[in-house]
Amino acid sequence: MTGTSGHNTNREAPELRENVSLAPITSWQIGGIADVYAEPTNEEQLEAAIEEGAKRGLPITILGGGTNVLISDRGVRGLVIGLRKFSGIKTSEVEGRFQIEALAGTSKSELLKAFLKAKLEPAIFLAGIPGDIGGGVVMNAGVGEQLRPREFNEITDAIEVWRWPTTPLADMSIFKVGRQRLEAKSLNWSYRHCEGWRPGLISKVWLSWPMEPKADVLDRVKAANHNRLTKQPLDMPSCGSVFVNPVGDRAGRLIEASGLKGFAIGGAKVSEKHANFIVNTGGATAQDMRAVIEHVRARVKDRQGVDLKTEVVWLGDWTP
Ligand SMILES: Cc1cc2nc3c(=O)[nH]c(=O)nc-3n(C[C@H](O)[C@H](O)[C@H](O)COP(=O)(O)OP(=O)(O)OC[C@H]3O[C@@H](n4cnc5c(N)ncnc54)[C@H](O)[C@@H]3O)c2cc1C
Repeated sequence: MTGTSGHNTNREAPELRENVSLAPITSWQIGGIADVYAEPTNEEQLEAAIEEGAKRGLPITILGGGTNVLISDRGVRGLVIGLRKFSGIKTSEVEGRFQIEALAGTSKSELLKAFLKAKLEPAIFLAGIPGDIGGGVVMNAGVGEQLRPREFNEITDAIEVWRWPTTPLADMSIFKVGRQRLEAKSLNWSYRHCEGWRPGLISKVWLSWPMEPKADVLDRVKAANHNRLTKQPLDMPSCGSVFVNPVGDRAGRLIEASGLKGFAIGGAKVSEKHANFIVNTGGATAQDMRAVIEHVRARVKDRQGVDLKTEVVWLGDWTP
C-alpha cells in the first residue's frame, strides 16, 4: 500500500457521553440531544461502543458527517455513534487501477484529495459534496451534471458492513459484531439511494478508478467549486438539496415556479439563491424546517401537480 494516512490504533473504548446536543455536528445546525453519544476513532473503539449500547439495550443510530439529516428537536433516543473521527485512507495502484481503502468516517474532501493527487476524474464530481465516505455510499451521493463518474456507485468496489444482535442477550459474553464484505455489484443503487446492506453500519469502503490521469482535473475541480459558490447559498447552514429531483425535472425549478423563494417560517427559509436549499437563517428549529418542507410540498403539488420527495433523512423522535 502507498499513500497511507494511517488508521488510528488507540485501543481505549470511546467515552459514552450523555445528553449531547447534536445540532453543532449537523450542517443545518439543528436538532435536539442524543441520550448517549460516542465518537470512536478506530475499529476497536467502534466495536466497544456498539457492545456497550447493546449491553444497555439502546437502539443505535449512525451519524456520518451530518450533512443530509434533519434531527428532531426532541433528539434521538438511545445511542448515537458519530463517525466523523473514524477516518483513515490508504491508496495503492494495482493492475492499472487506482485503489482506495477508507474507513467510513473519512471525509469526502480527503477522498477528493487522493483522486486529485493522482489527477483522476472522480475528484471532479466530489468537489463541494460535504460529509463522509460512508454517508456518500448510503446516499449514493453525486451530481446532476453529465460527468463520468458522477455518483458513488461508479467508484465503489465494495463495503464492509457491521451487524449485531439488536435484542438484548441474556448472556452478553456471547455478544459479537459480525463483519461482512459486500461487493458493490450486489447492492441496489439508485438515484441518491443505496439498499442491500441494511441493517447495520458501513465501516469501510473500497473504491477504485482506472489509472488514467488527466491534466485538467485540478482546473475542473476549481471550476466545479466556483460553480457551487455562485449557485448555492454556501454561507448559510443547509443540508444541500432538500428534495430529490422528480424524473425529467428539477425540484428547484418547480419550487421557484411556485413562488416560494424566500418563503420562511421561524428561522427556516427557502433560499433566494437556490430554491431547493432551505437555509437556517439563525435559530431555526427542526419543527420550523418541517413546516417549511410541508408547505413547499403542498404548494408544489397544488401549483405544479408534482409530489416532491425529500432527499434529507429524518432522524430521531418525530412522534406527534
Ligand atoms: C452545502 C451542501 C451541498 C451538498 N451537495 C450535495 C451534492 O451535490 N450531491 C449530493 O448527493 N449530496 C449533497 N449534499 C448532501 C450530503 O452532503 C450528502 O448526501 C452526503 O453524502 C451525506 O453524507 P454524510 O456523511 O453527511 O451523511 P449523514 O448526513 O451523516 O447521514 C445520511 C444517512 O446515512 C446514514 N449513515 C451515514 N453514515 C453511515 C454509515 N457509515 N453506516 C450506516 N449508515 C450511515 C445516516 O444514518 C443517515 O441516514 C450536500 C449537502 C450540503 C450541506
